[in-house]
Amino acid sequence: MSKKPQDGLATLAIHAGEKTIERSVTQPIFQSSTYVFEEETQYVDVKYGRLSNTPNHQTLAEKIAALEKMESGLVTASGMAAITTTLLACVEPEGHLLAQDQLYGGTYYFLKDDFSKWNRKVSLFSVGESSNLERHFQSNTQAVYVETISNPTLQIPDLEKVVEIAHRHGALAIIDNTFASPVNFNPVDLGFDLVIHSATKYLNGHTDVLAGAVAGGSRLIEKIRKMICHLGPSLDPHACFLLNRGLKTLVLRVQQHNINAQRLAAGLQKIPRVKKVYYPGLEEHPNHLLAAKYFKGFGGMLSFDFDSAVNELEQALKKLRLPFVAPSLGGVETLITRPSTTSHSGISATERSRLGIHDTLVRVSVGLEDVNDLLLDFEQAFSV
Ligand code: PLP
Repeated sequence: MSKKPQDGLATLAIHAGEKTIERSVTQPIFQSSTYVFEEETQYVDVKYGRLSNTPNHQTLAEKIAALEKMESGLVTASGMAAITTTLLACVEPEGHLLAQDQLYGGTYYFLKDDFSKWNRKVSLFSVGESSNLERHFQSNTQAVYVETISNPTLQIPDLEKVVEIAHRHGALAIIDNTFASPVNFNPVDLGFDLVIHSATKYLNGHTDVLAGAVAGGSRLIEKIRKMICHLGPSLDPHACFLLNRGLKTLVLRVQQHNINAQRLAAGLQKIPRVKKVYYPGLEEHPNHLLAAKYFKGFGGMLSFDFDSAVNELEQALKKLRLPFVAPSLGGVETLITRPSTTSHSGISATERSRLGIHDTLVRVSVGLEDVNDLLLDFEQAFSV
């Protein structure tokens, strides 16, 4: 598709990167690991699945770059593949990374347990410190890493300040934008250099694919592509097809996730046994003003604290009719988890308590069911 600067996100989600092949409107799956090496082909032009340069990869790369308003994009076999290859490509051996402390568990454990094995160092800062990071910088700090909305207490770093200070120190500003999605926020607008997604979540949206994505300037994306070629986590063509199909409805889905989550958050606040609701769209949320300044919508994720013991909470969760108790997020169906037993179970109880991740904290990925049904379901399960 020939792009026009004024094309809206919904248009790009459907048309960006698409090429008609054999007159098919929907791109077929190129189930071929390798491609014919023609006489005039240079070695750098070799097409091979692991090099992430087959037609299915290229369409997605262009589409994701367009959605994040970046020069180039890449897809990977999972969100963690996107995160690990990006961090290893952007922080050199002997280099230092400055990262937010409240992160997706997989990212946190990779940084805590594995990063040093690759001869890279990391130090962590709290979301509250994000506007004042000066003292954390070291002479070898090469990148600052944050999540748009932290998991699971939904705090928002001072993203403008993070970019400003990273660039002042000659470091890259990298963000995991999974929770917001490009519909609610484009980090490039604040100057971020690289945007990562677990495409398993909102980008795909149907809980049937594992995938990751990175978007940024071409030079950086080529560095990451090289790391993917070496480590091997490229996306399978069938998963590419499913992700591309999911992306076409991204805008509509996320707009409705925003509406459903805002209504459910307000409804949960009225249930007496719900002690506190964490949702950036609520005025009481400590980062509501930042969220309103940065985001077009407040997203589909919320958390809440229950007022009683864990066993009572477990009983209440069992009474829910619609949500599945399952990790992950961003799909059409509502999912709930207790982060202390899932994503953050490997963190010590003291550290969890410091991060506000109580045993009675419940995280909800609000789905696309009729929100009145969701409200009634939570009321019946949690009111007694
Ligand atoms: N980033 C965030 C914010 C996540 O929530 C997750 C997974 O839950 C990941 C990254 C990792 O993504 P994946 O499971 O696709 O590897």
